Amino acid sequence: MTHRVTLIPGDGVGPEVSTAARRVLDATGVDFDWEVVDAGEGVMAQYGTPMPQHLLESIRRNKVAIKGPITTPLGTGIRSVNVALRRELDLYALVRPCKSYEGVRSLYHNIDLVLVRENTEDLYAGIEFEEGTAGCREVIDFINARQERRIRSDSAISIRPISRFGTERVVRFAFEYARRYGRRKVTSVHKANILKFGDGLWLDVSRQVAKDYPDIEFDDRIVDNMCMQLVQKPELYDVLVLPNLFGDIVSDLAAGLVGGLGLAPGANIGADCALFEATHGSAPKYTGMNKTNPMAMMFSGVLMLRHLGEAAAADRLEAALAAVIKEGRRVTYDMKADRDDPSAVGTSEVADAVIEKLEALPAAD
Ligand code: NAD
Repeated sequence: MTHRVTLIPGDGVGPEVSTAARRVLDATGVDFDWEVVDAGEGVMAQYGTPMPQHLLESIRRNKVAIKGPITTPLGTGIRSVNVALRRELDLYALVRPCKSYEGVRSLYHNIDLVLVRENTEDLYAGIEFEEGTAGCREVIDFINARQERRIRSDSAISIRPISRFGTERVVRFAFEYARRYGRRKVTSVHKANILKFGDGLWLDVSRQVAKDYPDIEFDDRIVDNMCMQLVQKPELYDVLVLPNLFGDIVSDLAAGLVGGLGLAPGANIGADCALFEATHGSAPKYTGMNKTNPMAMMFSGVLMLRHLGEAAAADRLEAALAAVIKEGRRVTYDMKADRDDPSAVGTSEVADAVIEKLEALPAAD
């Protein structure tokens, strides 16, 4: 079966890591029909927007996309294309597996966590009021008139909506994911001791949903305690489900446990579409240098293969990546003990190494 997939190369190092990921995905033998669509600042002049309509149409039509990182220009008024895509396509669950591979330089071994981050609400809903504006004053006056605590008049206001609907669907997603991939436990992360209503609702809904999954263990942790526990005894945890902001922060912590950004993949999942991308950004200072690690993007490709039902190809690509990592020879600078190690290879050479390993593996049935 041919899979038609939207491929967004991105900018900065995006095109380099995307090309490398595309090459290894093609080398799995799975038949892809790539629809390449550009986005970001580079298409502004042509389309007047960094996220042209035909990009959204392509993803809606194909239902699956893989994307290189896109730079968010500072001070231009352009909001992040990455955040906007998640919102436009209602990609409500961001799945970030954090797994140890032998050969990765890290303080930890045998880590196998999956973070599921709510992706549409919370402080990332994009509802903010700038200090000193009429709208901000109005919001402050409205709130001050309705409760005892005073908000200072020179405040900026960021709104943090957490809905029953948004919480239920992402917590349910985490349990379904646990079931589908044979995981034993889901931990709901929150700050309900202080944020009684927002996170109180999150925790309440988490507990309700957990009752529908008696085969999966459930517990909850306050986010600050969660961070400490992940550093001290990460082996106690399995699937974590978190509101948007905590999810953003804790997933970087978890990426740090398994070797850093160069290896951290991501899957943005909605009811209709899925968008796969590395956790890292466009690393602009390395643009065009064939230097950065394409493995995060390749591991995102592994997640995409599983999503497409190509489990055997996903296993083979993961095994090929694990073999290159274990060997430790043909890896980029960030995976060497010394970042200036002259034996570090470039982005495209990592793709060559992974393809070689893939070809040496027994073919899938
Ligand atoms: P970044 O992840 O691009 O880079 C931070 C540093 O991490 C780099 O300088 C580099 O040293 C290292 N690094 C990142 N990716 C690497 C890789 N694949 N291999 C080796 N080293 C790597 O983060 P940033 O500098 O904060 O962001 C740069 C731009 O990317 C910003 O405009 C930001 O908005 C954007 N961004 C986009 C996405 C996305 O597309 N989903 C995600 C995060 C940031």
